[in-house]
Amino acid sequence: MKVLVIGGGAREHALCRSLSQDPAVTELHCAPGNAGIAQVAAVHPVDQLDGAQVAALAGRLGAGLVVVGPEAPLVAGVADAVRAAGIPVFGPSAAAAQLEGSKAFAKDVMAAAGVPTARSYVCTTAAEAAEALDAFGAPYVVKDDGLAAGKGVVVTSDREAALAHAAACERVVIEEYLDGPEVSLFAITDGTTVVPLQPAQDFKRALDGDEGPNTGGMGAYSPLPWAPAGLVEEVLETVLQPTVDELRRRGTAFSGLLYAGLALTSRGTRVIEFNARFGDPETQVVLARLRTPLAGVLLASADGTLDQLEPLRWDEGAAVTVVVASEGYPAAPRTGDPIEGLAEAEADGTAFVLHAGTKADEDGRVLSAGGRVLSVTATGADLAEARERAYAAVDRISLKGGQHRTDIALKAATA
Ligand code: AMP
Repeated sequence: MKVLVIGGGAREHALCRSLSQDPAVTELHCAPGNAGIAQVAAVHPVDQLDGAQVAALAGRLGAGLVVVGPEAPLVAGVADAVRAAGIPVFGPSAAAAQLEGSKAFAKDVMAAAGVPTARSYVCTTAAEAAEALDAFGAPYVVKDDGLAAGKGVVVTSDREAALAHAAACERVVIEEYLDGPEVSLFAITDGTTVVPLQPAQDFKRALDGDEGPNTGGMGAYSPLPWAPAGLVEEVLETVLQPTVDELRRRGTAFSGLLYAGLALTSRGTRVIEFNARFGDPETQVVLARLRTPLAGVLLASADGTLDQLEPLRWDEGAAVTVVVASEGYPAAPRTGDPIEGLAEAEADGTAFVLHAGTKADEDGRVLSAGGRVLSVTATGADLAEARERAYAAVDRISLKGGQHRTDIALKAATA
């Protein structure tokens, strides 16, 4: 099978790495890719948001499967264009991707499907926003309705700041605050059958101890030794299957990766958000533990044959990923700095480096090219060992001004 992956971050590098290890994959392509992906796949320049361009590239390459990584192409209808060209695609239609593209749409689907989530109001005026904030009280949660690349959500006890965020967005969802730890649970679906993956947890804040600004994610780990037994089954039954059934009932069946961001609150499990694609950086740790070859799993989603898939096989051990970000991330990331020590980081075979924002210069040096630069990932018998290996690898890498959290998976490993 020839596979084309769309995207160019660490999530796509993780997907490409797993696909490159699948004996069923005879050719692997990625567009646009990055310097790390180029080591395992042929990379092609493409406008990821242009469905016609992506479909044409897939046709030219003779791809038997296209995997769309990021949310923006999905919401822009890239999966529809590829599907219309008769090529199997992993990823939902633009209509189904509204589950991530519009928070108001997601709330509507959850209400119809009886899925537990925060109570909320959709507001378009300052007066509506003020009323909603006062209805719930502090801490306030104000979410931009549309895609905002992880920057659309403000959680604050400052009523003025909450109002200001609402005023800066055209339409917001204001909702009750959910306490309790967060869990990311991914599921592969073909629109009918739902196959959950292993849960993971990510770290959204920039600094140790969950301080500092929100980011795209600074690290992740899996499994979650502290999670209640039966969590995956419960979420499958109360969240994932009803959501997939509701979307199919509406005529907008969702196939691809359904990502449930959950809060385990004192009053039970609640959905914080849905995403329509693999999460970054959780994908790095979830795929590091998946033993079943990946291409067949993704193709079964694209083909609608997930009901025939053998149960997934998982590594019993643990995986940890630590994001190395550039100086100034997330506010004003500095790019163009050389990265040293990449080979050394992987030398003892216990860790691997996934590239997020990198590019190669004419001399073949790898330069930083984005806010999140690398996802340094390791597996081990348990979280403590995976952590130790990931941080040992991080220590061998040098990037001027580079920053990373030192407490990824720390609490879970020592609990
Ligand atoms: P989202 O983009 O919806 O995942 O929100 C980003 C982050 O904001 C989440 O990972 C949570 O940490 C936080 N958040 C979102 N909604 C809520 C909520 N209702 N209560 C508490 N925290 C929230």
